Amino acid sequence: MDNDTIGVLFFSGCALVFFGIPGFVGYRAAKERGRNRIIWTILSAFFPPVPIIILYMIRPAKVVPGKSIRCPYCQEIAFTKVGCCEVCGKELVLPKAHPLVSEEAKPITQN
Ligand SMILES: [Zn+2]
Repeated sequence: MDNDTIGVLFFSGCALVFFGIPGFVGYRAAKERGRNRIIWTILSAFFPPVPIIILYMIRPAKVVPGKSIRCPYCQEIAFTKVGCCEVCGKELVLPKAHPLVSEEAKPITQN
């Protein structure tokens, strides 16, 4: 390997880390929120950290099985890892779900 080859490899490696890490973070955030993964990955890779911050601020687009459920009280989408609705603050009974099975959350009290 001559110096040019090493230089190209080094530059490629740096570019991969530089764009790859924010791109991957954006991809994960978009996936959890039911957003378009390709668009958000590209935006996150080239304009970090703005798209990632936006993704964390906006509400999820749809329920992602194993990641989020629709709150039975306010109908907003809440992340299952939080344990309560981020919008109305009510505690959520999470479906003892298989990650591949989509289930709606049930209200705690039934009248
Ligand atoms: Zn709610």
